[in-house]
Amino acid sequence: MTGPLLAWSDAEGAARAGALFTAAFGAPPDGVWASPGRVNLIGEHVDYNGGLCLPMALPHRTFAAVRRRDDDVVRLVSSLAPDEAWAGTLGGIGPGLVGGWVGYAGGPAWALAQAGHALGGFDAAIDSCVPLGSGLSSSAAVECAVALALDELFVLGLAGSDEGRAALAAACVRAENEVAGAPTGGMDQAASLRATAGHALLLDTVDHSVAQVPFDLTTAGLALLVIDTRAEHALVDGQYAARRAACHAAAARLGVATLREVTDLDAALAALPDPVEQMRVRHVVTEIARVEQFVALVGEGRVREVGPLMDASHESLRVDYEVSCDELDVAVAAARAAGALGARMTGGGFGGSAIALVEAGRADAVAAEVAQAFAERGWRPPGILLASPSPGGARVASP
Ligand code: ADP
Ligand code: MG
Repeated sequence: MTGPLLAWSDAEGAARAGALFTAAFGAPPDGVWASPGRVNLIGEHVDYNGGLCLPMALPHRTFAAVRRRDDDVVRLVSSLAPDEAWAGTLGGIGPGLVGGWVGYAGGPAWALAQAGHALGGFDAAIDSCVPLGSGLSSSAAVECAVALALDELFVLGLAGSDEGRAALAAACVRAENEVAGAPTGGMDQAASLRATAGHALLLDTVDHSVAQVPFDLTTAGLALLVIDTRAEHALVDGQYAARRAACHAAAARLGVATLREVTDLDAALAALPDPVEQMRVRHVVTEIARVEQFVALVGEGRVREVGPLMDASHESLRVDYEVSCDELDVAVAAARAAGALGARMTGGGFGGSAIALVEAGRADAVAAEVAQAFAERGWRPPGILLASPSPGGARVASP
């Protein structure tokens, strides 16, 4: 088995993005900014139901080397799309105007301008060690790294406070939803910009308020394994839209704005004639309660006791929400069999990643057991990351 995928240091990420910038544009950048991917500890598929979720930032980040220009030209390159460099103007970035990765990298400029900020042109080169399309939010990491660069280079003054970071996150959400065209909630951008080291981020998706929840794995002698199944299943977008629609239909039938407002689950289930809507509502309501229980346990220093909540979350997502898949179920089962305290799928489902809470000294052994379970089925080896609760995005280098 290959070892865990290690995160790049500030120096390594800055050197890589800086070298790409200089090769593409013939001069060094004004600076390099980095923003992390995230993993959600618990609270899945609740962000579009006014729920609570508990992501934490990964040590794995996307690096954007950026230079301000004094015209309105924008040029973008990424190591992940070396043949798809983009050049245009600020006015050429917006909903329906750009496709593919440019929506994520350029979209924040459009969204910040929409929010009334005065921007000019810029050149940007992007490199990343966040696994792509693994449910670890490489998309938000790109948006947030670029947004942080624009904030500083155009002196918007947002990154210095959590309130300002919330505004940057909102712009990145608009970039993802409206320019890249991906209908996601706000969890990813909040985690990438508003997380702090050593904490998970409790996000209330009604008002986007956050609380920093100390999540000290090291003192507890634990580690969090992220298992990227590398599975991709078709119909993900359609399934996501169907889950959203079912929740919104159930909320309308129950006469509540969002399923967050359901206080009596049994009464709600009795009022819903559609068995599928009943299942979806049961997941959302019990999942929000699990987030509250998780936060309460961690708050009392009982980190070792959250495993059963993770297991219950996975079962709820598998049985009631029907968003798991064989690869996620096998990863979770193998991790538990190898001694994980708890394990669950994380992210939207139908592939992507699972997480497992393990004894720190057992991380390699659990990872090896999961890899073995995949090998026995003839599947590609899973990618393994070790996740420690990391800080949100920031500038990492001057010229
Ligand atoms: P994830 O779970 O990783 O966020 P998404 O499908 O939401 O998966 O986002 C992946 C997309 O984000 C990529 O297809 C690409 O368009 C964009 N993206 C992510 N990282 C980069 C990068 N380093 N350079 C350019 N585009 C990126
Ligand atoms: Mg994404």
